[in-house]
Amino acid sequence: MRLVIKFGGVPVKDGKSILNAARLAVDRHRRGDKVVVVTSAMAGITDELIEISHKLIEPRANPKQLISEFMDHISNKHFQACRVAIDDKDVLHQTTRAVKDALDGLERALTGIAHLGELSLRSQDLIMSFGERLSAPILAGAIKALGVPSCHLTGFEAGIITDERYTEARPKLERTRKLVRQRLSRLLAQGKLPVVTGFVAGTENGTVTTLGRGGSDYSASIIGAALKVDEIWIMTDVDGIMTADPKAEPSAKVIETISYLEATELAYFGAKVLHPKTIEPAMELGIPVRVRNAFNPSHAGTLIVKEPREIEGIVKAITASKEVAIITVGGPGMIGTLGVAATVFEILANANVKVLMISQSSSQANISFIVGRGDLETALRALHTEFAARHIDWRIDYDRSASVIATVGAGMKGTPGVAARVFGTMGREGINILMIAQGSSELNISFAVDERDAVRAVRALHAEFGLGASR
Ligand code: ASP
Ligand code: MG
Repeated sequence: MRLVIKFGGVPVKDGKSILNAARLAVDRHRRGDKVVVVTSAMAGITDELIEISHKLIEPRANPKQLISEFMDHISNKHFQACRVAIDDKDVLHQTTRAVKDALDGLERALTGIAHLGELSLRSQDLIMSFGERLSAPILAGAIKALGVPSCHLTGFEAGIITDERYTEARPKLERTRKLVRQRLSRLLAQGKLPVVTGFVAGTENGTVTTLGRGGSDYSASIIGAALKVDEIWIMTDVDGIMTADPKAEPSAKVIETISYLEATELAYFGAKVLHPKTIEPAMELGIPVRVRNAFNPSHAGTLIVKEPREIEGIVKAITASKEVAIITVGGPGMIGTLGVAATVFEILANANVKVLMISQSSSQANISFIVGRGDLETALRALHTEFAARHIDWRIDYDRSASVIATVGAGMKGTPGVAARVFGTMGREGINILMIAQGSSELNISFAVDERDAVRAVRALHAEFGLGASR
């Protein structure tokens, strides 16, 4: 079997977990599988890299001290992981040297930022890339120490070429596929078990880019599609995609099989285990994606395929995306005006604000949409500024503490009465609905509630559609 196995976050959080990941990959290799491993940074590292780079450009920062403290911290963490994950003196020595090289590169980059006093998206990408550039050699070292030839390479070295949209770069698919196939097939043919950095890629001329936060799932899928593997495994620390967040609903269960489209909706609406873009490259070639637990490898996980053999139930899962805000643009001046939506969304797009959900009343007296809470200030500022510049007198209101509840399932398609059940349930619970949207795909009904009602809404819907019951 040909496999791409991606480990991220908790499954590579320390030396012990990295060794566990290495054993898993080696086990598949020894069974005769052709395996490419994709890894993300050790848990929390990407956040720390972003944090330090921002601290360095603060007005009264003491860059020397900040950098030296940070370098101590990050070096200790990675060297410690090397010692725990690698039980072979020579390999340990080699790996420590590779890690040291990456650390030197990071220190130079941080120093550069401190000198310049500014942080472009391009520099941000360079800094963030070190998370994966530090974890990949350790995982490759652990595999070698277990007796299987391995090597580590960045996503760019593996052949992932992107445009120059730093921090959200998009791969040039044709070229990427060709290069990835050439380069990784060669390594596999040599009997190697390569470890590729997720998330990290590069422009045509080699400038470092990243694929967006959480993007190593996407890297795995791009590589899996290029190699036309049999399955892409996303290894995490839960048994699969669940019917709801178990923290909100303790009776939540692992979903056995789900379609690409359902999984995409779930990922998009806050099921944290999968990056929303992961499915796209796999779906194009019909490659199954499996989400499974690195710490419970006997569990089959959730299998994501084109069309599950039978559609189980009407609704598959309920998610709540927290940390969102609703903005409403309205007022009498808007009625009958053409191009309201176009104007509003153009302004937001120019400000780089992602809109997560939209609803417009048919009187056109207002238009409401959801953005990430982190984007709220940017969105409001952009709208106020542009409206003033264009002499537009539409009113802008917002509600900063909303949550989007999404009810997802292919079985909803063409089944009448699902919306009635969803909103009837909310009515019985006395939960007020702030905004509603249903995608025309009919795969999901989503609506916004006050954040304080989110858990109650998830639990009530989970019960209404019988998701916790054994099945
Ligand atoms: N390390 C990157 C991040 O934290 C990519 C990933 O984890 O998938 O966003
Ligand atoms: Mg992730």
